[in-house]
Amino acid sequence: MNPYMGMNYMSVWRIGDMSMKVDGDYWRHECNRCGRVWYSIKAEPKNCANVKCKSPYWNKKRVR
Ligand SMILES: [Zn+2]
Repeated sequence: MNPYMGMNYMSVWRIGDMSMKVDGDYWRHECNRCGRVWYSIKAEPKNCANVKCKSPYWNKKRVR
């Protein structure tokens, strides 16, 4: 059983709106600006992982 293959969403934690912890030590992030989804071991990356985006506001809501 590889926990990274199945992405067991039974054990998911969320921080903010755009990041959630997936099984294992990885966080799933989704960019508000470009829609990019990526995984990292960092809970809160500073910038979007999309080189064309790199937005520091990837996890910020546009409307406030
Ligand atoms: Zn982005």
